[in-house]
Amino acid sequence: MQEIIERIERLRRERDAIILAHIYQTGEIQDIADYVGDSLGLACSAAKTQAKVVVLAGVRFMAESVKLLNPEKTVLLPAWGAGCPMADMIDTDMVAELKRGHPGAKVVCYVNSSAAVKAVSDICCTSSNALRILASIPAENEVIFIPDKNLGSYLAEKSGRRIILCDGYCPIHQAFRAREAEQLRAQYPGSLLLAHPECGPELRDLADFIGSTTEIVDYCARSPETSFIIATERGVLHPLARLRPDARLIPVSAHGGTCPNMKMTTLEAIARVLADNEGEVQVPEEYAAPARAALEKMMAVS
Ligand code: SF4
Repeated sequence: MQEIIERIERLRRERDAIILAHIYQTGEIQDIADYVGDSLGLACSAAKTQAKVVVLAGVRFMAESVKLLNPEKTVLLPAWGAGCPMADMIDTDMVAELKRGHPGAKVVCYVNSSAAVKAVSDICCTSSNALRILASIPAENEVIFIPDKNLGSYLAEKSGRRIILCDGYCPIHQAFRAREAEQLRAQYPGSLLLAHPECGPELRDLADFIGSTTEIVDYCARSPETSFIIATERGVLHPLARLRPDARLIPVSAHGGTCPNMKMTTLEAIARVLADNEGEVQVPEEYAAPARAALEKMMAVS
């Protein structure tokens, strides 16, 4: 492993590249990254970087967003086949139908979506800034939220606004069961349940804290408590184990909670794309400009 890490270091210097890793990546990928964070953090880092090349250790929609925010940079996706089932649950025809049913509504698009879908939306959001983005839309406007029905229903609960939802969901977070969380609480009394808003409403109703992955990590790092049930993708356990070596960190699902797409990135693939530029991401011109506008509107509010 040391050999491949040294190779990546050399290539990274030669190509003036940075590696951005989503917090759901494996520990070894997080450990070599210049920045590790959630979708909002990755978007902000991508917008600020001076590097010529950005390697995105994550899934396709993230690499597309980095390219949209950095059209002049080379953006490389090492795991070429890494998609997102939630992003695939909405397409432009479905958005058009929702708009026809609700003329005048503003479309708020979770960044977990294709560039084509972003292009027909008014503004993007992440799970970290979704409430702020929603608050930026005048109360008289109806809001269509795509594609995650769970994050959308969470926003409706928190804001008191009626939000038109579609039927998308993250299969990883949707699979977490309230019953499992209750059993773990009984097994580990006093544990706090920390949940991502992509979880279903029954589990969210039990949670002591609901937030994005970064917010969950920050909450856990600052909390005086010492036992946490974690209801999000298992990648967050890697930084949490470092930040809270004293704490018991219990994944809410004994067998699930791992996103196979997020685990497709390997050190070898990172070295390969840096060496030969394989996996360069391009966003078709036909929708790059409106998709970029939806992302930039989000960045201006964040
Ligand atoms: S964790 Fe869920 S939302 Fe994130 S990439 Fe995997 S399937 Fe998509």
